[in-house]
Amino acid sequence: MAQLIDGKAIAARVRAEVKAEVEKLQAERGFVPGLAVVRVGEDPASKVYVTGKKKAAAEVGFNSWEHHVDASITQDELLALVGRLNDDPAVHGILVQLPLPKHIDAERVISAVKPEKDVDGFHPTNAGKLSLGKPGLVPCTPWGVMRMLEEVGVSPEGKRAVVVGRSNIVGKPMALMLLQANATVTVCHRKSDLPFEVGMADILVAAVGVPELIKGEWIKPGAVVIDVGMNRMPDGKLKGDVEFAAAKDRASFITPVPGGVGPMTIAMLMRNTLKAAKGE
Ligand code: NAP
Repeated sequence: MAQLIDGKAIAARVRAEVKAEVEKLQAERGFVPGLAVVRVGEDPASKVYVTGKKKAAAEVGFNSWEHHVDASITQDELLALVGRLNDDPAVHGILVQLPLPKHIDAERVISAVKPEKDVDGFHPTNAGKLSLGKPGLVPCTPWGVMRMLEEVGVSPEGKRAVVVGRSNIVGKPMALMLLQANATVTVCHRKSDLPFEVGMADILVAAVGVPELIKGEWIKPGAVVIDVGMNRMPDGKLKGDVEFAAAKDRASFITPVPGGVGPMTIAMLMRNTLKAAKGE
């Protein structure tokens, strides 16, 4: 029976560390980090995420501002808002909550954020640095997964890591971070032989967006299973990408959904904003 990895508890620890560092920053350098969140339109999930981010920012002692604009905002107006935040010295981190309305080119908006304020880690400069193995701001979700592995004493070094999903915000950066940590990494997608590849994994990260796609019986006994999936079911409950009930009988460690990777993402956003404020 697998041991659960308690993302809620680890995230609380990360926030407490950030809070202590913010107090130190204020005492030594006389300022606190500032996080600006841009929300466009009325997407209900975005509203929930932004509320969570503002709550965490307040808890760790940041200044934070929500710029909530109408869905009818033009691309140029949104780029102008990002430009003002880029120029504001009190703002150390800028986050544009995705998804954006269809008439807005999300890639252009992400690229307009100054790389040193890009606390989501999505800017091409930061993505490039990650792939080159250079320091920069990295995407929060995979960074949170790395912290979870560290917390439970699982070193990726020398292990076979399999990442299911190759999105720019989770799968790809996850694979690069695991590679950087000296795992042997396989990245899977729709054309992969999932039962075979999953069966090879000492560390499995599922970031697909299909409820229970990964069957428990595919999992190598003793594997560490990290489920990034957050799938809202018709009954309102959240389900992961892994068939949890069966997987937990084979895995050594497993993350629950909810209460696993989800809380880590916001905690690592706080870490990134602190990092940006310190100019690290
Ligand atoms: P995405 O952009 O939709 O990417 C999904 C990836 O999964 C794609 O690479 C796709 O392959 C692959 N895929 C989809 N169906 C598949 C199948 N049947 N077999 C094999 N591969 C398949 O999704 P994302 O943004 O990375 O998010 C993935 C999941 O993580 C979602 O549930 C999302 O809600 C969740 N998420 C959670 C957090 C968190 O904080 N916990 C943060 C971000 C995302 P192709 O490339 O071949 O299309």
